Amino acid sequence: MNTQLISNVISLEKTAQARTADKSDMLPLIALSHEELRQLLTTQLQSSLDITTILGLFFKSSQRLVKYSSLSFQHAAHAIKVELGSAEEHSVNYNLNYYGDFLGNIVFTRANRFSEQELGDFESIISSLIFPLRNGLLYAAALQNALKDPLTGIGNRISMQQTLQRDIDTAQRHEQALSVLMIDIDYFKRINDTYGHSAGDAVLVEVAQHIQKQLRTTDALFRYGGEEFLAVLPNTCSQHASLVAERLRESLEALEINIEGHIITVTSSTGCATLRTDDSQHSLLQRSDVALYAAKHNGRNQVQLAL
Ligand code: GH3
Ligand code: MG
Ligand code: MG
Repeated sequence: MNTQLISNVISLEKTAQARTADKSDMLPLIALSHEELRQLLTTQLQSSLDITTILGLFFKSSQRLVKYSSLSFQHAAHAIKVELGSAEEHSVNYNLNYYGDFLGNIVFTRANRFSEQELGDFESIISSLIFPLRNGLLYAAALQNALKDPLTGIGNRISMQQTLQRDIDTAQRHEQALSVLMIDIDYFKRINDTYGHSAGDAVLVEVAQHIQKQLRTTDALFRYGGEEFLAVLPNTCSQHASLVAERLRESLEALEINIEGHIITVTSSTGCATLRTDDSQHSLLQRSDVALYAAKHNGRNQVQLAL
């Protein structure tokens, strides 16, 4: 490719960036050399921290050097999986690492075999993914951490609000049941007062893990406040939710928590509410809170159903 053509290509890219994203999709994909493509990718891939966007840009631009049908990226520890294009029979697979830091596995496929030359082409451009992917993974981890309660590792209140709203919307759209359990440890202050605050912290961690283990994978558990948890049970009617709540209450009562040789036991009170057609997130939570208050008022260590 001569210099003139290179400068045409580069100016074409600049035009593409100035236009809307939709129109840039209509631009012809002009073949580029390794170096030209690497320059293009370096600029393009720095424009986003979103892994799917980064891989989408790579998928499109890398076709200028090697034609292929699909790209699939996976990072199990980050629970990230991105599939672009449609998979074909022949594949080439790379593990991406940066100084021992695993950045994911990437697989390219197409109907006919990749030549040695093309494999070399992949290797030369794949390095342009390293820094953008690393930044994207750090960003994804930061987003995840912002939704986690640092003590127990379960979702925090912000995460609860997002998940619950999504589940309420789904339930209302498909006319499905949805229940919530607001679970509060009884007389928790006494545990802190007797064994110290860090023992109290350890109890909270154990209780969170214990409840989580009892729930279905489709249910979600959040730390609602200090010693208060909210379980969101999609597809669960009032009758079933009260059985789940009662089972949880019994198993928490039976739990023996060993903190530095002291066996600590807890009881809990639960307010159980099931979504009504006219409910908002706020009214649903409020009803479960009123039911929890009734459970406390009635003597604790029990489940109360919301009206
Ligand atoms: P009740 O049966 O009415 O729920 O009594 P309680 O003592 O559990 O409730 P109260 O609201 O009076 O006290 C809650 C206690 O939980 C007080 C607070 O210091 C403690 N707490 C809240 N968050 C944490 C935490 O992160 N770690 C520890 N160790 N204690 C916490
Ligand atoms: Mg309490
Ligand atoms: Mg409380």
